[in-house]
Amino acid sequence: MDFAEKYTSEQQAFRVAVRAWLWENMPKNIDIPQEGSPLDTATQERIKAFRRKLGDQGWLAPSWPREYGGGGLSPAMEAIIQDELRQLKVPSMGDSHRWIPAMMVWGTEEQKRRFVPPALRGEIITWQAFNEPNAGSDLASVRTQAVAEGSNYRITGEKAFITGRFDPDYLWLLAVTNPQRPPRLNLGVFMVDARLSGILIKTQRLLMGSERRVYLDNVLVQADSLVGSLYQGWEIAQTILEQERGGFGFRVTEEGTIESILDYLKEERNR
Ligand SMILES: Cc1cc2nc3c(=O)[nH]c(=O)nc-3n(C[C@H](O)[C@H](O)[C@H](O)COP(=O)(O)OP(=O)(O)OC[C@H]3O[C@@H](n4cnc5c(N)ncnc54)[C@H](O)[C@@H]3O)c2cc1C
Repeated sequence: MDFAEKYTSEQQAFRVAVRAWLWENMPKNIDIPQEGSPLDTATQERIKAFRRKLGDQGWLAPSWPREYGGGGLSPAMEAIIQDELRQLKVPSMGDSHRWIPAMMVWGTEEQKRRFVPPALRGEIITWQAFNEPNAGSDLASVRTQAVAEGSNYRITGEKAFITGRFDPDYLWLLAVTNPQRPPRLNLGVFMVDARLSGILIKTQRLLMGSERRVYLDNVLVQADSLVGSLYQGWEIAQTILEQERGGFGFRVTEEGTIESILDYLKEERNR
């Protein structure tokens, strides 16, 4: 069976243009610690500047609609961009995009317009802050609490094993909105400004690498930070886990997995 990918001449020309643009604009000689520690400010700025350039022309989210900050391109063109990013070993852009499809499903139009275009244009960094020291696979055990104060909320709790090499602008956060309700029916999701007073971020050293720990102490968040309704957090989390575990979105970070399998098979055949 022939597994070779077939491209039209238009797609091939696009690939050449993408490669040239990436080569000219990508940050070079970047030192990224293997163990996952946060990047220093200068490195963050260089990669973020490149991210914004990519985002400006819609190449961070090539097949998303232009009105939301995407490139409006076909999936084939997106595959070409991702392929070139991977082949040139462009460093990870450091953002979690997994919340975006969930925001498109559950957010208000105002929230979609406020958060999605800047994210897809590469202007903001968001961390997914679901996991807690005692709530990993079992997110129904989340203890972080959001207590209503007028129409706003006060959030207190702790998030652990959070991925983030770049300083965050927002935390996409799961919290208990009413401890009297049964598990799963007591959760809400908030888009929290990561610079709010009461938020402390520390690096959590692991045997292999490091992740972040986020402490929230009575953090006052505005009413419009709540996404979906007060008790819809479980459903919203499921929308994300469907994406996260569903095989979508890992293309750029596969780092040649498919190619290495193909190489291995070819070598075996020629043996
Ligand atoms: C490198 C890394 C990056 C991460 N980044 C993020 C991030 O950015 N944001 C975020 O929110 N989280 C993040 N996490 C956390 C990740 O989501 C959790 O590690 C994951 O949900 C598993 O939780 P746990 O490690 O506590 O394992 P546990 O939940 O303790 O699970 C351990 C084992 O027990 C099994 N198990 C657990 N509960 C049950 C059950 N009820 N029935 C049967 N089997 C069960 C599991 O399948 C697993 O095999 C990250 C984790 C890692 C390692």
